[in-house]
Amino acid sequence: MKKIISVLLILAMALALAGCGADDKASAQKAKNDVIAAANAIHTRRAPECRAVSYDMDLALDAEKNLVSGYEDLVIRNDANVPLDRVGLRYYAEALAPESEIGAVRNQDAGKEYELNPGKDDSVVYVMMEEDPLPAGETRTLRIEFSTVIPELDDRFGYHEKENGKMFLLTFWAPQLAAYENGRWDESPYFDPGESTYNMMSDYTVKLTAPEDYVVAASGKQKTRQGVTTITAPNVREMAIVACNYMTVEKEKVDGVLFNMYRPAYEGFDKLYDVMRDNAKAALRLFRETIGEYLYSELDIVPAFLSAGGMEMPGLVIESLPEGGEGSVPTGFYYDAALTVAHEVAHQWFYCAVGNDQFSEPWLDESFATFCANYLYHETANSALRAANRAEKELNEQADMLYHPGEPNIYATSTDEVHYINLPCDYYSERGYGTYVYSEGAEFLDALRQQMGDSFSGMLSDWYAANASGVVHSSDFVRKVTEFDSSPEVIGILNTYLSDEYLR
Ligand SMILES: [Zn+2]
Repeated sequence: MKKIISVLLILAMALALAGCGADDKASAQKAKNDVIAAANAIHTRRAPECRAVSYDMDLALDAEKNLVSGYEDLVIRNDANVPLDRVGLRYYAEALAPESEIGAVRNQDAGKEYELNPGKDDSVVYVMMEEDPLPAGETRTLRIEFSTVIPELDDRFGYHEKENGKMFLLTFWAPQLAAYENGRWDESPYFDPGESTYNMMSDYTVKLTAPEDYVVAASGKQKTRQGVTTITAPNVREMAIVACNYMTVEKEKVDGVLFNMYRPAYEGFDKLYDVMRDNAKAALRLFRETIGEYLYSELDIVPAFLSAGGMEMPGLVIESLPEGGEGSVPTGFYYDAALTVAHEVAHQWFYCAVGNDQFSEPWLDESFATFCANYLYHETANSALRAANRAEKELNEQADMLYHPGEPNIYATSTDEVHYINLPCDYYSERGYGTYVYSEGAEFLDALRQQMGDSFSGMLSDWYAANASGVVHSSDFVRKVTEFDSSPEVIGILNTYLSDEYLR
């Protein structure tokens, strides 16, 4: 999630937008929608056919020049049945901070340097290998030199500066193999309100040299000694790194998972950090019990100044601090933070474990994360959520955003008119994206739960167990649901929310 749109805004948008068509293309479809027939027509299980087996990075962070540079050895394997004469890379940093650049790309085994060609999107770079194509079934190591300029920006890719200190947030920052599906390299553009990455699982190892006073949080496990951080992250879709010279970490074991709550030294946020920590822990426990085992042995929570909301990365969650800056927690923020952190933790199950093409089928992670937080987690009324509620009350007795156990879920949108939730990111307006992909998508899953009764939780666990570490498409979900319940009522719900025309 949850880049731009906060949980509270989603509600407001949903109410404001009820009845107006942000997705005319979808509503103008033929009248008879039949996702069952469409899902059954899509037989084969599809996944990208060129895989990044591993990334081995050796990098230095220059905290004065706001630069991370060095190289990565990317091992690619060609699982397509044709030789590849070029390989697509995604380098979002170049689109976001144009001074960033890929220096040279070599065949590490042969020492040969390849020519680079730009793609249609600024974030796409093609490595041209016409002279020695990568044969089907074989692997090759590419050494990629790059230099990423980090912009001063309170966003998921950027740095925040305070007196004598900086926090660097590195997401969308390093070259990655593009997805290669049906003979095409993925060129989906960067999508600011959401994500546009589509990655298979890879193994990452990173050596990052940074000034000695910097604390580093990252996907996987990290260890810092005399300014050199070693990161080991098997089975992740990407690598997130946060480096800051004014944060400490509070470590504890939560049911065997190493839980790291990072605490940047900002004024007035201690109670907010506690709310984030306690709700993240409670959400971690709940989703392990109700959905399935957490994929990793470590989870990092890092509060930071973002544009809004939070940001999910493998084994690491970035949680938004109030836009007003240090010292002020606005009304509604504790409670919003409690549900947002639960949403981002839920993404460890949906996006990190069960992967998807986040640009073409964003609902496959966002609707699920919203459902997990705003329904499953919300309904537990656990002590962490109640504490967020109390913090909110202390802040403002008049706050009307509070959760009162036993009352209806205020995040349910209750719009009469439903629009399809399974369209690509660029088919929605920014507001429509939040309304349909998050709110309506969560309502869709809740409607299935109400209709399916007890078999819903079995279906959800099975969906997770069958697909953890893989990638899924919407048609897979339709088939999974009907495996458990193919009643006319359930089929009616599937046809109400999902468009057969856009089913993949
Ligand atoms: Zn999300």
